[in-house]
Amino acid sequence: MSRPDLIARLAQRQAERAAAQGLRRLRVVVRGEGAWLALNDRRVLGFASNDYLGLAGHPAVRQALVECAAREGVGATAAHLLGGHQREHAALETELATWLERPRALLFSTGVMANLGVLGTLLGPDDLCLQDRLNHASLLDAVRTAGCTLKRYQHADAASAARQLATAPDRAALLATDGVFSMDGDMAPLATLAALARTAHATLMVDDAHGIGVLGPEGRGSVAAAGLATDDVPVLMATFGKALGVAGAAVVGNEALIEGLVQFARTYVYTTALPPALAAATRAALRVARHESWRRDQLARLVRHFRHGARARGLALADSHTPIQPVLLGDSASALAVSDALERHGYFVPAIRPPTVPPGGARLRVTLSALHRESEVEGLLDALASAIGELPAARGVEVAPSSPRAGRQGSA
Ligand code: PMP
Repeated sequence: MSRPDLIARLAQRQAERAAAQGLRRLRVVVRGEGAWLALNDRRVLGFASNDYLGLAGHPAVRQALVECAAREGVGATAAHLLGGHQREHAALETELATWLERPRALLFSTGVMANLGVLGTLLGPDDLCLQDRLNHASLLDAVRTAGCTLKRYQHADAASAARQLATAPDRAALLATDGVFSMDGDMAPLATLAALARTAHATLMVDDAHGIGVLGPEGRGSVAAAGLATDDVPVLMATFGKALGVAGAAVVGNEALIEGLVQFARTYVYTTALPPALAAATRAALRVARHESWRRDQLARLVRHFRHGARARGLALADSHTPIQPVLLGDSASALAVSDALERHGYFVPAIRPPTVPPGGARLRVTLSALHRESEVEGLLDALASAIGELPAARGVEVAPSSPRAGRQGSA
């Protein structure tokens, strides 16, 4: 029999990945105060989390979770439509809709599930989905669930999207983009994309996992920062596991969108609702994110400080003004070497390698948090400069125009 053995085939893929210095490392981390972590019993300062506002350990967020669990138990016990939709879920949906200035919000257990649910519901085999080449992996994967045609346009290039749309003027089309790109930290040209979607009668969807809480007035995200409303961006996806420091996600939009998702989104209908205590914690986080704008101010200061310091040290930076500040190194071996050296210096910044980023696009994805101090950012920059300086070819010391754009298989 010549039937391939599936596990043996997987082991072969793993061996190939190892040979390309691409093996992922699963580390056990113990969280300490602020951005401090323990790794192998060593204290290191984390510059890799998405806890941009420092809310994952905020006392009010912790308290909301604990009190709700003490009051109502842990699990939601059922899917939303079968008795799992509890008071905290409903209250969170209302508060999200108010914050993001949209008619309604609908909770999903994760951002990945929200993206799968939306595309699977809105699109069918005759339809078109246009996506930025650097969109999150879950948006790209969702196309398979939907069975529609995927067309990927050049990164952050509305003219490229317009050309793709023009090739199929009669097909229903969703134009989907990340608001802030997760591995590059740059922002989508939302105003231009919204204008294009309007004239071409396409529906615009923004995955704002990294913009919510961080950008715009009261942290309403990249869509609000671009001054766009529900009619401009009918489908907005927000996650709670990043700036809000909890877990889960929501789609916000008008009544017709949300009711349609309730009826047809398989990743909504067929899964257990988020634990209500997480909804309670997210409500608390939302209030802090909304009203404590000093956290966004601190973050913006740190971003400026990091970029200024990196430039002064000749480090290669991407064109990002968000808390995601990739340091481009090119090959995987260099990225791993610098990451290991940083860890020896007491900083945790894991290497990001293909296929998460395009070939030749290996990097350290430095992320800043309102928990960091300027002196800590200085320390990281010194350690980075010294680790990069010790690379054999002293790679990554010239300012690159931008990260490579082709061949992305989807970001993490
Ligand atoms: N979209 C983007 C842009 C992301 O970066 C992520 C998280 N890596 C997700 C969606 C998925 O969100 P979640 O972690 O809630 O599944």
